Amino acid sequence: VSRFNDITMAPPDPILGVSEAFRADTHEMKLNLGVGAYRTEDLQPYVLSVVKKAETLMLDRGENKEYLPIEGLDAFNKATAELLFGADNAVIQQQRVATVQGLSGTGSLRLAAVLIERYFPGSKVLISSPTWGNHKNIFNDARVPWSEYRYYDPKTVGLDFDGMIADIKAAPEGSFVLLHGCAHNPTGIDPTSEQWETIADVIQEKNHIPFFDVAYQGFASGSLDEDASSVRLFAARGMELLIAQSYSKNLGLYAERIGAINIVCSSSDAAQRVKSQLKRIARPMYSNPPIHGARIVANVVGNPDLFNEWKEEMELMAGRIKSVRKKLYDSLSAKDNSGKDWSFILKQIGMFSFTGLNKAQSDNMTNKWHVYMTKDGRISLAGLSSAKCEYLADAIIDSYH
Ligand code: PLP
Repeated sequence: VSRFNDITMAPPDPILGVSEAFRADTHEMKLNLGVGAYRTEDLQPYVLSVVKKAETLMLDRGENKEYLPIEGLDAFNKATAELLFGADNAVIQQQRVATVQGLSGTGSLRLAAVLIERYFPGSKVLISSPTWGNHKNIFNDARVPWSEYRYYDPKTVGLDFDGMIADIKAAPEGSFVLLHGCAHNPTGIDPTSEQWETIADVIQEKNHIPFFDVAYQGFASGSLDEDASSVRLFAARGMELLIAQSYSKNLGLYAERIGAINIVCSSSDAAQRVKSQLKRIARPMYSNPPIHGARIVANVVGNPDLFNEWKEEMELMAGRIKSVRKKLYDSLSAKDNSGKDWSFILKQIGMFSFTGLNKAQSDNMTNKWHVYMTKDGRISLAGLSSAKCEYLADAIIDSYH
């Protein structure tokens, strides 16, 4: 008899489990709109040409595979902070940012979560309702208490701004407020710049600490600077803040696990101490991070030709998503004669569309139409081709009504 008999079967992951089910389906029209990963119009994974060029450079140089320092590759940490804030930003000039390379967005969030648990005992993290499913897991496993603030309003399929502000105001002073820097996942609904100002006002009033998750810089609007404007607005106010970054989507480096945690402090002295503690957290967890993705990012961001080419490729990816978004909207509007207003789809931004389909309707999408998606009604438009928009519209209309 096994010593592990008391261990029960864990449920499949709500996002990655969808891909497993998709692979097992043999229907020819099947569509995987679960995981947020960019696909070409032929629905194939895409390796950016700048990534291939950077890898060729790296190979030509014959670089070694020695361990990185605990905090990661210097050139990467410099490049990633500059990309986020802009190289001339005061927080960089004054060396007030503690940047540590992390295991992509998830691992970087986790480093920050451990820091919160260790140095802000009892403080809670406010997360949007809804949010990316893994946020709750990350804070649960790090034993950081969290609660939700209102974000999505099903009536308008838009932002519940008043609810959001009220909940941030009502939270205990000094809470961490987790914000999606751009392209909110799963809703695709972002605050306007005026609304960001009000959010910053309330956070400052309440002495809260903003904690940004930036997983889609450049992918939402097609512009790296525009997508970082929320973070820069907070930094410009002189606030202390945390920012987790990921290169999974914008450089297509999903499997390389490359990202960073940045903590903006009010002095360079504090930043150095914070960085030393982040390293202390990383050391027993994974010792030091992988080098390959860090080198790719450092090469692309640090080489003006590759950097410009990256921006072009990102615009291309963001553009393809915008075009299928439009085509899906057109197909839904043309086919649906119930009078439903589908314009919310056009207002959403980024990789995802929040369709408003409930769990039973999402099940119908999968069981009857072979469209794989998360049960919260989110679809990844990055996994949709224009050739399949009509089919998807039929599936959505059938499931809704
Ligand atoms: N944060 C959000 C909001 C995301 O949507 C994702 C990926 O889907 C991530 C973080 C982190 O992804 P990764 O760990 O692959 O960088």
